[in-house]
Amino acid sequence: MEKISRDKAKAGKAKQHKYIFVVGGVMSGVGKGIATSSIGKILQSKGFKVNPIKVDPYLNVDAGTMNPTEHGEVFVLDSGLETDQDMGNYERFLEMDLNPDDYMTSGMVYKHVIDKERNLGYKGKFVEAIPHVTDEITRRIKHAAEINGSDISIIEIGGTIGDYQNILFIEAARILKIKNPQNVMFIMVSYLPVPGTLGEMKTRPTQNAVRQLNSYGVQPDVIIARSEAPLDQKRKEKLAIWCSVPVENVISAPDIISIYDVPLNFERDKLSSVIMKSLHMRTKAHNGELDEWKKFVKKRAKAKHKLEIAVVGKYFDTGDFMLADAYLSVIEAIKFSSYWSNANTKLTWVNSKEYEVNPKKVSELRKFDGIIVPGGFGETGVEGVILAIEYVRKNKIPYLGLCYGMQLAVIEFCRNVLGWKSAHTAEINPHSPHVVIDIMPEQKKNLENGNYGATMRLGAYPAVLKEGTIAYEAYNHLLTPSVSKISERHRHRYEVNPEHVEEIEKGGLIFSGASPDGRLMEIAELPRSVHPFFLGTQFHPEFKARPLHPHPLFTAFVEACLKKK
Ligand code: GLN
Repeated sequence: MEKISRDKAKAGKAKQHKYIFVVGGVMSGVGKGIATSSIGKILQSKGFKVNPIKVDPYLNVDAGTMNPTEHGEVFVLDSGLETDQDMGNYERFLEMDLNPDDYMTSGMVYKHVIDKERNLGYKGKFVEAIPHVTDEITRRIKHAAEINGSDISIIEIGGTIGDYQNILFIEAARILKIKNPQNVMFIMVSYLPVPGTLGEMKTRPTQNAVRQLNSYGVQPDVIIARSEAPLDQKRKEKLAIWCSVPVENVISAPDIISIYDVPLNFERDKLSSVIMKSLHMRTKAHNGELDEWKKFVKKRAKAKHKLEIAVVGKYFDTGDFMLADAYLSVIEAIKFSSYWSNANTKLTWVNSKEYEVNPKKVSELRKFDGIIVPGGFGETGVEGVILAIEYVRKNKIPYLGLCYGMQLAVIEFCRNVLGWKSAHTAEINPHSPHVVIDIMPEQKKNLENGNYGATMRLGAYPAVLKEGTIAYEAYNHLLTPSVSKISERHRHRYEVNPEHVEEIEKGGLIFSGASPDGRLMEIAELPRSVHPFFLGTQFHPEFKARPLHPHPLFTAFVEACLKKK
């Protein structure tokens, strides 16, 4: 009896769960991820617990194997799942750690269905795209909502309307809507071009995108109209009539200076009330969430100091646009710490390969207030990076090394301070007499068997901080009681070789953070008496930087850059 009523209560609750599907019209790259994040933000500010979900239509089972300069950053969750960069936007806007269930690709879904079929999970039935694949999609969406107890799921369907690849996801959403008409809505993020020759904003491509969506049996409830300029009333009315949505459901989303203005812009067009109406809901509470956000946005606009930071790495054959995508979390982490330190930072991308051709050129780094070497893989440009690190170490320019940036700093130190001229990483020269960055024995076997997927250290791992170090101070800057154990996200295969740790420390480099068992080095730094700020992390602190909670190590770095200035 008790079980039945519990089940009933559960079913009742599940029924009330709301789903917002965000789809893209006209073209890609118009900010669906930011729109999804911003919808989440304004709903949070109305007292709801939201759950963003990213659906990627490609066949990769995760994003781990993708080249970031082509596809954007690989964003790593606490769990270690390698995902799309949009997951990073969601985490930053919504200040939450996402679960692996909040991400799915076609590959993941198909693999599950095919594995189930092989295991007789479908009990001898035909296994078909509809309903088996669509059911699996819905199961995942519902499961994600259940485990985090959210009120509203916001599901971003990757790709654009008209793509062949995302059709099954739209079909799954359509079926969910048919079954729960009150609880499901569709938002189309579209684009209104202003052709230079005409100078006039055109609505037709959006009309066509809506028609295409209609042909799948789906009618959007809201149109977020991205464009260069705000939408005027006349165009809103035109879109409303041609796309069959109420005029107040056409939301103007002009280009803006900062993506963090988007939630505030959406609220200017009252998007949260429109959503409440569409989903038959009432606002829970105004909880001041957007007040904090506004403060942050103001900080950005008012930042007085100007900082110039160089990001040194192996950049080639990619425009700035792609670089910004490949290192998205690093860029955002720098922004957050800068704004809170009353600074605006200009980042310059420096191709380390140029230093390999012309080592003297490295002195150009003098003009920067600080240098970052971000994560990376492989041999290209590495000697140039090491030259850059040597230069900033000797010239006392603040340095922050992220993952590869820490490993290469250790190599530079071993070569030029300890005199181990051939010091290297096993990733490049496993036969060097001084392999100071090495693969751990337990991982070696996997690598020998060609099992590359199993050789990465992925996701959140704890580290213990050494008191009295720059890292310890940074993490404890505003915290009471103090913390000596932190948790940060990883994505790498190699580690500082434990065999050399003692000698390296004797030489003057401090490992200020290490795994609780003391075997894996997590942070390396030079003492302040030697250098104002020279610090590298084996983990990726950028994955945990948030607008309202900037990452302490990035903040300490920015403060050091300001001081140098
Ligand atoms: N290539 C290095 C490793 O695999 C660093 C990886 C990174 O920077 N994410 O250990």
